[in-house]
Amino acid sequence: MVYAGGMRPEILFPLFAPSASLKGVGPKIAPLVERLAGPRVRDVLFLPPSGVVTRTRTTVEHAREGEVQTFLVQIISHKPSRGAGPYRIHVTDETGPLSITYFKVFGESLKANNPVGSVRAVSGRVERYGGELQITHPDYLIPAERIDEIPDFETVYPATAGLPSRTVRRLALAALALAPDLPEWIDGPLKAREGFPSWLQALQSLHAPQSETDTDLLTPQRRRLAYDELMAHQLAMAERKAARRREAAAAIASGDLAQRAQAALPFRLTGAQTMALAEIRGDLAAGERMSRLLQGDVGSGKTVVAMLAMADTAEAGLQSVLMAPTEILARQHHDTIAGPLAAQGVGVVLLTGRDKGAGRAEKLAAIASGSAKVAVGTHALFQEDVTFDALTLAVIDEQHRFGVSERRRLQDKGGAVHLLAMSATPIPRTLELTLYGDLDVSRLTEKPPGRLPVATRAAPTPRIGEVVERLRAATDTGAQAFWICPLVSESETLDLTAAEDRAVSLRRQLGSGIGLVHGGMPAGEKDAVMAAFAEGELKVLVATTVVEVGVDVPNASIMVIEHADRFGLAQLHQLRGRVGRGSRESACVLLYDPPLSVTAQRRLDILRRTDDGFLIAEKDLELRGGGDPLGLKQSGFPAYRFADPFAHRDLIAMASDDARLLLARDPTFTSERGKAARILSELFDWKASMPTD
Ligand code: ADP
Ligand code: MG
Repeated sequence: MVYAGGMRPEILFPLFAPSASLKGVGPKIAPLVERLAGPRVRDVLFLPPSGVVTRTRTTVEHAREGEVQTFLVQIISHKPSRGAGPYRIHVTDETGPLSITYFKVFGESLKANNPVGSVRAVSGRVERYGGELQITHPDYLIPAERIDEIPDFETVYPATAGLPSRTVRRLALAALALAPDLPEWIDGPLKAREGFPSWLQALQSLHAPQSETDTDLLTPQRRRLAYDELMAHQLAMAERKAARRREAAAAIASGDLAQRAQAALPFRLTGAQTMALAEIRGDLAAGERMSRLLQGDVGSGKTVVAMLAMADTAEAGLQSVLMAPTEILARQHHDTIAGPLAAQGVGVVLLTGRDKGAGRAEKLAAIASGSAKVAVGTHALFQEDVTFDALTLAVIDEQHRFGVSERRRLQDKGGAVHLLAMSATPIPRTLELTLYGDLDVSRLTEKPPGRLPVATRAAPTPRIGEVVERLRAATDTGAQAFWICPLVSESETLDLTAAEDRAVSLRRQLGSGIGLVHGGMPAGEKDAVMAAFAEGELKVLVATTVVEVGVDVPNASIMVIEHADRFGLAQLHQLRGRVGRGSRESACVLLYDPPLSVTAQRRLDILRRTDDGFLIAEKDLELRGGGDPLGLKQSGFPAYRFADPFAHRDLIAMASDDARLLLARDPTFTSERGKAARILSELFDWKASMPTD
């Protein structure tokens, strides 16, 4: 039997004790510790410091202004404050005098704790005041015999009110003292090649570093911890994928119906579409539950691939759904697939929030009886009273726009439902493994033929007048344009005003036919404006938020983006992908506020030079470096504690390969290394935070 979790190895018990059980955690700070780190000792152990302060031990003679240093001194005298003045303690070592200064204290306890003549260890930032060396509000002032409590390299932790860094440090060290030495799960040769220390050693140098650089992301010890985390995550995803595969699901053969539907299309499938379709069909025919992601740039033609898989499903007498995040997208999908499917005798219904009363009841009945083999729609599809006759394939467009429970609710309407997720968010391949390691991925790397490249230009905002003039010339000949005013001011009302002002000024310059959509609009109103634009009733659509990814308006050939320098490259690419779908020559104008930084210049250049979403995503990550360059956190990127998607990107593929290999060789975790890997899995416990579909 495959290990299914739930049996935590005994060796980990101390780390899974409540964090409140750590020495020094009283009822007052327990909730703060839990909020900062988590509910378990492990969570405190896994809280990396944000930096290291060097507290070199030295003598007054060798003191260095501006640095944090530690001295062993004798108390000479106390000078209580006069009026608003500071409280001062004069001290000295063999090499010279130093004063310790406090503001706004009475000093009684200072005097009692540090009597004249006593020897003290003092540590803090050295400064010069007048001619005198002093330390203001030292970090430590403690009896000499306790000097070992002052580390040479003191870790600094993210602190919260009521829980200062020093306290967190004490707790981290207490957690470290509880950490057992664990059997090694990293492959010997890899460990040697990377120069990784053991797990415990890596944690020791994290919380009790021996140099200021010990905690840097690129040290072998930090990389080791990142690797452990990535490996545990990849193992969990690989296990989940394997578990899904073991679920029996309807085997669906590809048949004549899809063949006829395909032959009736006004175009031929691209090579990439053909390949993706073959991969999907391979899954559907296997009798195991499919979980596949169809990844492809805006306009790469995902919908028709999904449609043909749905046609196969219908021919087998089974049902499928195609769910989209917005009403307008659902309508577009319906418009695309209903005709070709109906022509082959397949009943298709569209179900959205707009359906009410008798009309809705009729659609629900068609879905429930199975007379409709395909249902296209929005969130309306997973509502309580929607039941299916034989739901077997769920296609979810822009799948990251749905919550896990929403996807779950839809799939629960059938037995073992095959899942086909679709996404147009270009993600570098390395990162794809962290987001979709539990899915098989098909990629549409090729666009349908005949697409004209979108001429991309950057222009400084002061030249906006010329842009509007060209826009007038184009719209006079029937072209349509998107005009994007992004969120720039942190204040939604201000941004909205900027967009409204833009719409007003465009109306003044171009006349009527200027629409406006913004994030705060009710969904229905937004859809109505979008639909008016899609139907050609508006010539320019001004939008504050990113207009719906995937909206297909072939006649729109111009995209103007204000403050383009504030967007991520991947986002700019997605926006640009909204034009260039029809027969008109298309243009994308990136307005920026001069002067452009060198990096911004390079980013815009990349966009001008290539139209390959994957390449752009990769470059974007490179140019922006660390942090959250692609808005990954919002797109469901896992919350890693140690692993940094940029600094540790080389480890991601390694961990993924390693996890897969390990699972293939030892699916029951019985070898020595397998047992160790099981401990690793439990240690990070990704299963607990992963959805269960
Ligand atoms: P996306 O991948 O963004 O969802 P769509 O499925 O909306 O892309 O397809 C975009 C447009 O391209 C649609 O109008 C569709 O009919 C068309 N299309 C799809 N495949 C092809 C093809 N092989 N040749 C020509 N046009 C195609
Ligand atoms: Mg689409």
